[in-house]
Amino acid sequence: MNASEKISDRTRYLESLKEVHNNWDIIVIGGGASGLGIALDATARGYKTLLLEQSDFAKGTSSRSTKLVHGGVRYLAQGDIKLVREASIERGLLYQNAPHLVKNQTFIVPVYTLFDKLKYLIGLKLYDKIAGKLSLGPSLLISKKETLQKMPGLRSKGLQGGIVYHDGQFDDSRLALNLAQTILENGGDAINYIKVTGLLKDDTGKINGVTAVDIETHSTFNFKAKSVINATGVFVDDILMMDKPGSAKTICVSQGVHIVLNKEFYLSANALMIPNTSDGRVLFAVPWHNKVVIGTTDTPVENASLEPQALEKEIDFILETAGSYLDKKPQRADVLSVFAGLRPLAAPLDGGQKTKEISRSHKIIVSSSQLFTILGGKWTTYRKMGEDMVNRIEKELKWHHQIPATAGLHIHGYANNINWQDPFYFYGSDAELIRTEMNADANEWISDELNIHKTQIIWAVKNEMARTVEDVLSRRTRALLLNAKESIRIAPQVATIMAKVLNRDEAWIKKEVETYNKMADKYLLK
Ligand SMILES: Cc1cc2nc3c(=O)[nH]c(=O)nc-3n(C[C@H](O)[C@H](O)[C@H](O)COP(=O)(O)OP(=O)(O)OC[C@H]3O[C@@H](n4cnc5c(N)ncnc54)[C@H](O)[C@@H]3O)c2cc1C
Repeated sequence: MNASEKISDRTRYLESLKEVHNNWDIIVIGGGASGLGIALDATARGYKTLLLEQSDFAKGTSSRSTKLVHGGVRYLAQGDIKLVREASIERGLLYQNAPHLVKNQTFIVPVYTLFDKLKYLIGLKLYDKIAGKLSLGPSLLISKKETLQKMPGLRSKGLQGGIVYHDGQFDDSRLALNLAQTILENGGDAINYIKVTGLLKDDTGKINGVTAVDIETHSTFNFKAKSVINATGVFVDDILMMDKPGSAKTICVSQGVHIVLNKEFYLSANALMIPNTSDGRVLFAVPWHNKVVIGTTDTPVENASLEPQALEKEIDFILETAGSYLDKKPQRADVLSVFAGLRPLAAPLDGGQKTKEISRSHKIIVSSSQLFTILGGKWTTYRKMGEDMVNRIEKELKWHHQIPATAGLHIHGYANNINWQDPFYFYGSDAELIRTEMNADANEWISDELNIHKTQIIWAVKNEMARTVEDVLSRRTRALLLNAKESIRIAPQVATIMAKVLNRDEAWIKKEVETYNKMADKYLLK
């Protein structure tokens, strides 16, 4: 089957994956940034690769980020130059390989004291220097007048000026989907809604495959492989327990929350960076799909979940901190959506170390039964994480080294000269195809507020592996994150359109809408 057949006919695709002669070089468990980066690297090197995701691609942390492709100004302040250098290089490569999704975004740090002015200017100049040729533009000091012109609505009292700098801004779940499409187009395999339930071992105790279940039909499978990778984010310890019951915890989980507001609260094309909040972190307000995303927090949590819940104190903190910088102070009732994500941090908490102090760099561990696990990392460095993991597998399993091939690999949708005002910009090279299909039903807009058209729903099912209403409303379009209430309003229409394409009945529609509403309700502030 070719890539588009695999995408459009899941049943036949799954049948083809279970054929007995299938024996993969590499099976990757987890379809977030880490797993997709590993599977794409392995595929691009020519390894026979299969990625299995228990839910939808990017259902976990990878759809809940701050949407920055960044070197990490905060890590610079922590003195982690190595991570900043690595992330700055990766930022530049991603900007080159997915120009339809990664935008060169100007940020402004407003400064209120002379000391801060000097501190942040010097720091950000260093940030530029570390990025070298892959810098997205020079940092510079601007006057108070210019700062207020560029950031209407910013608190002017005591303002000394601003420091402008550049980073990347992207759409996380769209990138995840485009990575899955790129894997398929390069001859690899990647499928959603297949959950790994166990690990297979040979007579010597080495892992040689996985058992898995299709979440849709409950059919079970044995997939054989020469190596198995655990890239399950905050769930890595569950897979480690399958390998060795009683394994020690390898990660600690930290929650980050964002709120989404109408852009009237922050009428600027420049993102705002608040460098030192009352809890010693940074807070961003970033323009995104015609709205503004504000976050984030860093709260240790005990248990991992695919639908983490924002705490009241996190919401209050964001509203208060943003409100102290903006003339128009946002209130709870203004929040269009609130979403939480969980950081899989690669270090046990010891010696009173706070989660915000734990390095965001990644770590690879290999168990005695040869389960390869990746911990930590950032969306920005997903490609390097993939490369490091495949290098490690080659080394541990004594495979002949294949040259990594993703540094210059274009990601599905690659297109230049993107018009960022176009509501369909994120489809990149697919936008024209969608527009052509739209012409037949030109007036069938489902949401004017969110610019969602019927054709996008059909496209998501036929060409983007969407299986549920949530896949469409949360990760193919970003309706859930942009305006949860509006997404609930259109859910029944979306379910009806999907049912036609997927050949589902009324009962499916009813169940999908109920399930969606129950989940989306948690993104609303009451
Ligand atoms: C609040 C917040 C803001 C962030 N902002 C940024 C940012 O702006 N820029 C940046 O670069 N990074 C950012 N990050 C970091 C980045 O988002 C994460 O490092 C990255 O998304 C983690 O990806 P992952 O693949 O490791 O985990 P996940 O995205 O969680 O993926 C793991 C996947 O494994 C699947 N899985 C689990 N168990 C199984 C199983 N048994 N079988 C099959 N599949 C399974 C899960 O369903 C899940 O989809 C942020 C993180 C947070 C929490």
